Amino acid sequence: MNRRQRVCVLGSTGSIGVNTLDVIARHPDRYEVVALSAMSRVDELLQQCLTWKPRFAVMPLRGAAAELRTRLREAGSPTEVLDGAAALADIAAHPDVDTVMAAIVGAAGLAPAIAAARAGKRLLLANKEAIVVGGALFMAAVEQGGATLLPIDSEHSAIFQCLPEDRATWHERIDHIVLTASGGPFRSRDPKTLADVTPDQACAHPNWVMGRKISVDSATMMKKALEVIEARWLFNLAPEQIRVLIHPQSIIHSMVVCRDQSVLAQLGTPDMRVPIAYGLSFPERITSGAGRLDLLTTPSLSFEEADAVRFPGLHLSWQALKAPEGSTTVLNAANEIAVDAFLNGRLRFDRIHAVNSQCLADVQPGDCASIEALLDLDARARAHATRLL
Ligand code: NAD
Ligand code: MG
Repeated sequence: MNRRQRVCVLGSTGSIGVNTLDVIARHPDRYEVVALSAMSRVDELLQQCLTWKPRFAVMPLRGAAAELRTRLREAGSPTEVLDGAAALADIAAHPDVDTVMAAIVGAAGLAPAIAAARAGKRLLLANKEAIVVGGALFMAAVEQGGATLLPIDSEHSAIFQCLPEDRATWHERIDHIVLTASGGPFRSRDPKTLADVTPDQACAHPNWVMGRKISVDSATMMKKALEVIEARWLFNLAPEQIRVLIHPQSIIHSMVVCRDQSVLAQLGTPDMRVPIAYGLSFPERITSGAGRLDLLTTPSLSFEEADAVRFPGLHLSWQALKAPEGSTTVLNAANEIAVDAFLNGRLRFDRIHAVNSQCLADVQPGDCASIEALLDLDARARAHATRLL
């Protein structure tokens, strides 16, 4: 490669953002950080700016941005701070950015991810909610912009790694895919006791270290539900071509079952730096910092069906995919409200599913042809979920 890839990390203070910077730090000859962004953690973004010296730092909230600007100036940093609602999409489409890591959490990441897609960027998509909310509109933006879409979600990266580079051959090749799920912290807890689950218990994931919202999604398996929807779009599959298996050891990250019944799997230690490194370097491979998988000391690999009583939320994904377009947007919005209420002590853990399924039944999607229409639908679903609380 002649010139370093110029990378913009959206959500740089989050779990994926920090891991992305960790991989980039190992390859200063290949990557240059040109923009970082965060929502509210000024201290952390300040430290990142002082370390990485990006041209731009983006904070959508003006107050936080002003504080960052002052403190960067005091530290003698030349980094320019951008603020306001449109700044994230502007930076994602900036001509001096080659690669966008979309690692914002939630539907807030939709507009910047679509902006990066339309601008034809190399788009590393961690923000699964963007594709769940954006669906057909998002994929059309990727197509029209000529963007290179690289999945970062570990399961989707696994599937992607098991497929040839030529996307045109995927349809002929795939019989179905199997997304693996760890089963989260409550895989073997008595379902009758799920009402008593506290936020800290739900966030204590056995295999992965993640942000709090996504950790709760892992405990309810709504994370896997969103990943089923994500896979439908990324790999252009029918809902019935996507299956889920619980695999508690999180060693096999997912599998492709080919037409000839050959099964391809991607294995490794559970470390997000592997899919991040692959997204950054595709089609090459670079070191990621992940530990070596030692199969001789690995516990034997096991698989289980996802129990519908314990994990009722999982099945909402297929239901939403078969319902009118926009139903996946409704499901995601309801879930964001329900999880937030749970984390703030306003909703019982076992009621998250009730809010999600009721919203799916009550909110009629309508128009889904623009970001504005999707965000309006998202807002309607959130308002309805809030009423249900
Ligand atoms: P996180 O909560 O640790 O970090 C989120 C980042 O987004 C932070 O930098 C935060 O400042 C920023 N942010 C939050 N709300 C924002 C808003 N409204 N506008 C702009 N910025 C905002 O989350 P995470 O665990 O890093 O996950 C990020 C995304 O990656 C999620 O969509 C998640 O589902 C996906 N993902 C995460 C993992 C993982 O292991 N952490 C794995 C697969 C996929
Ligand atoms: Mg995942």
